[in-house]
Amino acid sequence: MTLPLDLASLQALDQDDPLRPFKNRFLIPEDVLYLNGNSLGPLTVDAKQRLTDAVSHEWGTELIRGWNTAGWYDMPKRVGDKIGKLIGAESGETLLCDSTSVNLFKAVSAALSLTTGRKKIVSESGNFPTDLYILDGIKSFLKGDYQVDVRPREDIFDAIDEETAVVVLTHVHYVTGDIFPMEEITAKAHKCGALIVWDLSHSVGAVKTTLSKAHADFAVGCGYKHLNGGPGAPAFIYAAKRHHHTMHQPLSGWFSHINPFEFTDKYQPADDAHRLLCGTTPILGATALEAAVDLFLEADGAVRLKKLEQMSRIFEGLIEEKCGSHDLTLVSPADPTARGAHLSYHHKDGYALMQNLIDRGVIGDFRAPSYLRFGLSPLFMGYEDLYNAAEILSEILETGSFKAEKYQVKQAVT
Ligand SMILES: *Cc1c(COP(=O)(O)O)cnc(C)c1O
Repeated sequence: MTLPLDLASLQALDQDDPLRPFKNRFLIPEDVLYLNGNSLGPLTVDAKQRLTDAVSHEWGTELIRGWNTAGWYDMPKRVGDKIGKLIGAESGETLLCDSTSVNLFKAVSAALSLTTGRKKIVSESGNFPTDLYILDGIKSFLKGDYQVDVRPREDIFDAIDEETAVVVLTHVHYVTGDIFPMEEITAKAHKCGALIVWDLSHSVGAVKTTLSKAHADFAVGCGYKHLNGGPGAPAFIYAAKRHHHTMHQPLSGWFSHINPFEFTDKYQPADDAHRLLCGTTPILGATALEAAVDLFLEADGAVRLKKLEQMSRIFEGLIEEKCGSHDLTLVSPADPTARGAHLSYHHKDGYALMQNLIDRGVIGDFRAPSYLRFGLSPLFMGYEDLYNAAEILSEILETGSFKAEKYQVKQAVT
């Protein structure tokens, strides 16, 4: 099958795209081509409106009554269940709370609380740094002889053995977009008597994710990437129902108590997923995220995934056609169905190239040491956008404009 890579064909694809109406629900500046929904999803019309209402009418008028009258108290479960639909969880298994890093700490600790005697935690080298840092933190916190066995991707399957307590993996790799076969690896962990924690930060709202079907034990993920929940949006945590009565996590704040408003001295954990909570929900952040997730749930998931695959093929084709003569190397898997919702390219001047692109209104991001990442978002991007982004990249490469001094200056956040 030849890919439609000319402008007219791509415009025709946009015309026929059933997801096209969603584009107007996002507030993206006219002069920006936003290929960074994998890092920070853009603002939606709904989120802006709901936040305004929450500030004026809920916080502003209801004041503390809002915990009951505006449904604040139920937000972890209510929004968690909505996110649960996107990750293949059952109702009552997913909660919105805390940051992904904090949730990792709780999820891995909860998983460890269910294993006895085993001291090995398996993870991937080159995993998202916070995942590895949190595992090191847990290891030193526990003061025991825990071992964090960090292996390259190709060795992970074999590294999971009878000594493994918990496996901690990121489903979609933050640089390459490589997707781990969730069902196969979860099955291997279980066969060895280990439990598994999946980090879904680059999966939720991006790729097909089936926690229940895979019999996954725990999961965590991010609210501000593909879910468009806003900068620093709350994250989520998932635990399979079968673990709810037996798991324990050490951040046993009052919201994980069976009855926080009895104010008793004695701690008694909630008898459901709520024992994974810690403290008070950041309501404004949760409000923006809920509005963004509601929008997501309006879109047909199968149509969204199909468009993502098509965009992924087309973007790769456009870069190949327009920029192929320059030293850009695709580091994402060659098979579009084996990669998540972003494409990564290596270029020796990757940082400067991305700065120049951003200056020209094409916003992707850069990951050290040399990777350009381009996020693909079927709800707010069209095929013509991909064409225009590739055109601009090609111009920058042709003219060498990225070599200018100003594009070499490193900023705090890349
Ligand atoms: C983005 C990301 C996180 C983010 O963690 P925070 O606590 O929100 O900063 C964690 N894990 C992975 C795999 C990510 O991609």
